[in-house]
Amino acid sequence: LFVPDEPVISYISGDGVGQDIFPVAKNIFDVAVEKIYKGQKKIVWEKLLAGGEAFEKTGDYLPEETLKAISENLIAIKGPLMTPIGEGFRSINVTLRQKLDLYACVRPVEYFAGIEAPVKRPEKVDMTIFRENTEDIYAGIEFASGTAEVRKLIDFLEKELDVHKIRFPETSAIGVKPVSSEGTKRLVKSAFDYALSHGKKRVTFVHKGNIMKFTEGGFRKWAYEVAKDYPTFTQLEYLKIKAEDGAEKAEEAKKNALSDGKIFVDDVIADNFLQQIVINPQNFDVVATLNLNGDYVSDALAAQVGGIGIAPGANINYQTGHAIFEATHGTAPDIAGKNLANPSSLLLSGVMMFEYLGWQEVAEAIKTALAKALRAGKFTADLGGKLSTSEFAEEIIKNI
Ligand code: NAD
Repeated sequence: LFVPDEPVISYISGDGVGQDIFPVAKNIFDVAVEKIYKGQKKIVWEKLLAGGEAFEKTGDYLPEETLKAISENLIAIKGPLMTPIGEGFRSINVTLRQKLDLYACVRPVEYFAGIEAPVKRPEKVDMTIFRENTEDIYAGIEFASGTAEVRKLIDFLEKELDVHKIRFPETSAIGVKPVSSEGTKRLVKSAFDYALSHGKKRVTFVHKGNIMKFTEGGFRKWAYEVAKDYPTFTQLEYLKIKAEDGAEKAEEAKKNALSDGKIFVDDVIADNFLQQIVINPQNFDVVATLNLNGDYVSDALAAQVGGIGIAPGANINYQTGHAIFEATHGTAPDIAGKNLANPSSLLLSGVMMFEYLGWQEVAEAIKTALAKALRAGKFTADLGGKLSTSEFAEEIIKNI
């Protein structure tokens, strides 16, 4: 990605607590950039409208100009957006992801000392989830119970495709789960590229291919095909050596492959994975998975490190370069406008953004300053602290 010294970054402050956290986060970003680059580089911010503020000013929750600007600037960062209630409204976040084809939802999960976590050794968790963002049962192809479409579909499935094993009760609603080779491969490729550029040693595919043979099983098959294009040592190779020459030789081959800089690749069934991340989280590194599994896994992992409120995220199309970095929590209407909200999720999304820009020093400066505040117990009420949003932000600025 070519990044000029003064890149234009689109931003959407967001609704609710977005208005509390965005200004302080943006200030922290500017302070860190100035501190590191001393005027040689800076962000040129471009404010865009979406959500409630956009609706008030333009009558549209996601104005065409907003999409156009992100499309041109490539990179955006946003606070949370409220989803208008009522039929006929699509989630603004989902629309943004679909319009820009942001196929990879990237969620790094790591523990910050000072935060209360429900597991005994949260520091063992250090993973990055690559969740496919456009396909699977989340593609939004659903037919409501009792409609003519669903009746036609049931008729087709029973008569034309002879799906006689399953009976469809009259009240069935039907969802469609598309999973393609192209969709899988571009996601898995981004997971491998990330593993290589971040020195990660293991990539794990998480799926339910044992039950859903063609969709989730397809994901597994296509993912292993991608692995062939990278310096990898797969579980399949390991098992082959084990069967032929014994466990000792297999372990030796794995050890040699890793010391040669290869990435170990394996796959785990989703339910077992959810168990394994509680028992042995240190075994996993980069995880590539389908949309629905990824949704569950990301939140389960974030909760394990006590970070559900501070977990960052990004939606990226690595082929076009389009990327939207975002706070993963909602608009928190209960505390909005009270200077109480925790800006950490947005700040860590900013850290991801600076990494994406290649401004590594800025990313590190912000993360280290935040980690220092958290370690010292200086944080907001949601984490059990006493600071307001602005006091917390001042503390972080002091640490930069
Ligand atoms: P929420 O995340 O807004 O709130 C859940 C709880 O977490 C609340 O108690 C809230 O006070 C707390 N919380 C959330 N963010 C916090 C922060 N930064 N600091 C301190 N506490 C925080 O979830 P919700 O109540 O289910 O959703 C409210 C609205 O947000 C809905 O309109 C929903 O559609 C939207 N939403 C948007 C996004 C997004 O834009 N990415 C994500 C989730 C929900």
